[in-house]
Amino acid sequence: MHSAIVSPFNKKTSISHKLLKVVFTIYFSLTIIITAFHVLVEYQYTKNAINDELVRLEATFKPPITTAMWELNSEQMHALTTGIYNLSIVVGVEIIDGDGVIEEHQGRISGAESSDNTDLFFHQMDIYRKFDNKLIYLGQVRFFSDSSVVIKRVKMGFFLIVLNALIKSTILIVLFLWAFQKYLFKPISKLTQQIKQIDLENIENIRIDLNLTEMNELKQLETSFNQMLTQLQIDHESFNEVQKQQKNKLETQVVKRTRELEDAIEELNKIAFKDPLTHIKNRRSFFEEGKNYMSIAHRLKQPLALLMIDLDFFKTINDTYGHVIGDKVLVDFADKVSGLLRESDLFARIGGEEFTVILNNTDCNGAQIVADKMCDLIQQTIFKEEDIEVAYNISIGVTEMDEQDKTIDDMIHRADIALYRAKEGGRNQVQLYCA
Ligand code: GH3
Ligand code: MG
Ligand code: MG
Repeated sequence: MHSAIVSPFNKKTSISHKLLKVVFTIYFSLTIIITAFHVLVEYQYTKNAINDELVRLEATFKPPITTAMWELNSEQMHALTTGIYNLSIVVGVEIIDGDGVIEEHQGRISGAESSDNTDLFFHQMDIYRKFDNKLIYLGQVRFFSDSSVVIKRVKMGFFLIVLNALIKSTILIVLFLWAFQKYLFKPISKLTQQIKQIDLENIENIRIDLNLTEMNELKQLETSFNQMLTQLQIDHESFNEVQKQQKNKLETQVVKRTRELEDAIEELNKIAFKDPLTHIKNRRSFFEEGKNYMSIAHRLKQPLALLMIDLDFFKTINDTYGHVIGDKVLVDFADKVSGLLRESDLFARIGGEEFTVILNNTDCNGAQIVADKMCDLIQQTIFKEEDIEVAYNISIGVTEMDEQDKTIDDMIHRADIALYRAKEGGRNQVQLYCA
């Protein structure tokens, strides 16, 4: 058994509903017209039959009427008219004499003024009598009948005709409704319901199935729709594939770009914290990291030394050999000093030809030893570039961290004073500003 199918359409706008209405309107109109025509034909046929019976009355009643009229026997005539009038098919009878005067009559006759005689019909016979080999006209006799007689006779027939039409219509309506439901309404409703349930994401599991066995228009619709669904599935899958590929491509690109960005940021950080010429730390880096050196040293109660280094007469080197050589001397200096220092020391270029060093866990004495080593190394070695040889010296001011020191600047200030003294003292030397 199928479950009840609810139409998804408004009844008034549904094609099925309209089709049913049109079909039944046409069918009922035709049935009414045909039945009316049938009734009319039946009426006319019965009327003709009654008329024939009136004609046949002539044979029975003509001889006694002729005799009564010939003998002018009015009693006889009255008896005869009464006898005829009593026949079921006769509603009236009249006898008219040779002068056109009504001699005898019974029931409804055409001449009666009061009665409506529109539905009357009659059979008329002329009465002659042979006398002396001559035919003598005696008058006329009319037998009347009317629609009531016809209707009385065809009443049953009418009833059967209407009953026949009603039964036929009812059976046809029921059959039509059944067929309509089974072959059109139910499959269409099923189709629309199944179409409504289609989910694009789950399209591979969905196909329309109307349970049709015959190859008809609906079956064709079902096949075409399923072909369309298959095509849709293929398109959907390829769309998904393309989407997936694009997503992967995009993800790869994002990963690549992110890595590039991270590299760029790292590079930027390097640039931000490195001196581009000597590749040692720059001024900014020195101040930031120096702060940490100080706070660690304060916390661990360890000594911390700061060296302020300045190249002697560097302006003269520039002026003598050119700026490019000057640069190379700066790089040469940085390389040489880097080789002397520990991994944990902080070495930076904080100005044109000014450098600083923070020596971890080192007091003034230790710092002096390192500073002397630097001075000696720079003094003893000569920078060579092709045929150019540059000998240069450095001056160093040394200080160590004080308990009151809060910032790097406090130490730099003292180291600067020591450096000034070194310059004043003839350069190429180390001066201390220690407690
Ligand atoms: P002093 O012994 O008193 O320190 O003398 P100086 O000539 O070294 O000192 P001064 O401050 O007069 O000159 C420093 C020079 O360093 C001036 C400047 O042109 C040069 N200088 C600064 N930065 C750079 C740089 O990056 N490259 C080069 N080649 N020269 C630089
Ligand atoms: Mg200087
Ligand atoms: Mg200098």
